[in-house]
Amino acid sequence: MFGALEAGGTKMVMALMDSQGRETDRKVIPTGTPEDTMPQMLAFFRSRPIDALGVGCFGPLDLDPKSPAYGHITRTPKLSWRDYPILQAFRDALHVPVGFDTDVNAAALAENRLGAARGLSSCLYLTVGTGIGGGVVVNGQPVHGLMHPEVGHMLLSPDASDPAPEGFCPYHKGCGEGLAAGPAIQKRWGLPAQQLPEGHAAWALEAGYLAQICANAMMVLSPQKIILGGGVMHQRLLFPMVRAKTISLLNGYLPVREVDEGLEDYIVPPGLGDASGITGAYLLARDALDNAKIQ
Ligand code: ADP
Ligand code: ZN
Repeated sequence: MFGALEAGGTKMVMALMDSQGRETDRKVIPTGTPEDTMPQMLAFFRSRPIDALGVGCFGPLDLDPKSPAYGHITRTPKLSWRDYPILQAFRDALHVPVGFDTDVNAAALAENRLGAARGLSSCLYLTVGTGIGGGVVVNGQPVHGLMHPEVGHMLLSPDASDPAPEGFCPYHKGCGEGLAAGPAIQKRWGLPAQQLPEGHAAWALEAGYLAQICANAMMVLSPQKIILGGGVMHQRLLFPMVRAKTISLLNGYLPVREVDEGLEDYIVPPGLGDASGITGAYLLARDALDNAKIQ
């Protein structure tokens, strides 16, 4: 039996899964402080003996095993979780191997192994929701380096037609998240994204910003698939618009079949629907158990 946790800034999704990946139990609780949230999560994961736990966590995280702050949530705006050693807390309490990565790297891993990027060696998974986060898998593994990719904070060019071109990110103003996450849409137009009608100017603007992210990612990372998930992407009308704008931004520069085919099969929704994150956490648990056996 495996434990899986998708740790988000607003909610914690916990699941128990068997060795076939079938979910046998699930619980969702709001993200409070560590003092009240951790005991509830530990109680859930202790309700059944588990062999390993996987945690896909909101960031930023320290993922460098050599760092003294390894496994900590670091400079999060959620102050009660800042510098919280979440990995060690689970290891100490549960005494099982714990796999740990960003929520979006976990989702990218799941899409790579079981979803829209199955059979490929690389992909980018972007969630467009309360924030914009990007998970990157290369050679079948989530990318870690200096820390982990922060694709959503790449700096964009404001659109000439944008009524709020400065952007809303507290760190960079006009980065991807500052211009195109759900809260940016709401602040710019005064309505939550899900209430904006189909023909609204918001969608062309949104597609343009997401296309800047996609085009930049294609040129920097060369992923074999770009998967766009998160609440805002429930607006399916965005997909054809993002593909068309990405092609226009690339302007014939990348001579690949995927572009010639209109990116139809390249910029796609998640193959696992809204389950990419929790499935990724499950895969982190499986990998943690495999690694523990090798050592
Ligand atoms: P989170 O990022 O917190 O995990 P979501 O991915 O659901 O959660 O993102 C929430 C954001 O997505 C909100 O800003 C909301 O306005 C927007 N959103 C949610 N559902 C839709 C929808 N159907 N259409 C457009 N925007 C949506
Ligand atoms: Zn930013």
